[in-house]
Amino acid sequence: MSKTENQTPKRPKQRKTVSALTSKKLYQEADNRCPFCGVEDVAVLEIHHIDGDPSSNKIENLIVVCGNCHSKITRGEISPADVHAKKMELFWTHRASPRQTEKSPMQSVNVNAASVSDSIIANTVTFGRKRSPRMQYPVDSIGADTIKKGYIDYLIKRYFDYRQADAGYGSFRPFNHAEIHTTIQRKFKAKTFFIHVSRFEELYGYIKSRVDQTIQGRNNRSRGIPNYDSFEKYEAEQLRHGQ
Ligand SMILES: [Zn+2]
Repeated sequence: MSKTENQTPKRPKQRKTVSALTSKKLYQEADNRCPFCGVEDVAVLEIHHIDGDPSSNKIENLIVVCGNCHSKITRGEISPADVHAKKMELFWTHRASPRQTEKSPMQSVNVNAASVSDSIIANTVTFGRKRSPRMQYPVDSIGADTIKKGYIDYLIKRYFDYRQADAGYGSFRPFNHAEIHTTIQRKFKAKTFFIHVSRFEELYGYIKSRVDQTIQGRNNRSRGIPNYDSFEKYEAEQLRHGQ
């Protein structure tokens, strides 16, 4: 899957006006202050297009910043990864408001293991209006890349399977499916599939280390049995099946 397919426009894309509703949501999300320097003067706040495309007005591509910090972003003094991380932070803190969580009962408890990581996220968040359980992941997040997301799903599934096997070896360490995601969030400061794509290798390295540390994982390694496919192999397989 090539990321360059939709890029390289022939001429700069047309700037489109951000709708009043989107704008209102963005200011609410930012709590009417610049998320970088904290300035609270609404008069100096502007809307920044995270992916640099002025015609892409999806809320996940937009963030409110002050004019000063906007210039720093343009000059690269605030990196794209920092902007991304800040957007995620705003997104999660905003969504974690009591009003939202009260209204979200356990809707998807009966899910299978393969989609459990999606459902954990879907339980706690929906972007904008609730319409489908399918998540829209922000640009440059791991979730936005089907194959990378698939590989993370694959490793997490492997971890769950091995933990289940460990129980067969008599391990009674308490286990719940959400734990690995909570640990990842604490470590990476973002939910699993919202982590910036630049940290993909770091993320899969961490999950692999968790797989390797299970009893099943250690047994396999002592016998020279691989615990998982490499990303290269996984990717090649996905591309082959996708054709
Ligand atoms: Zn600022």
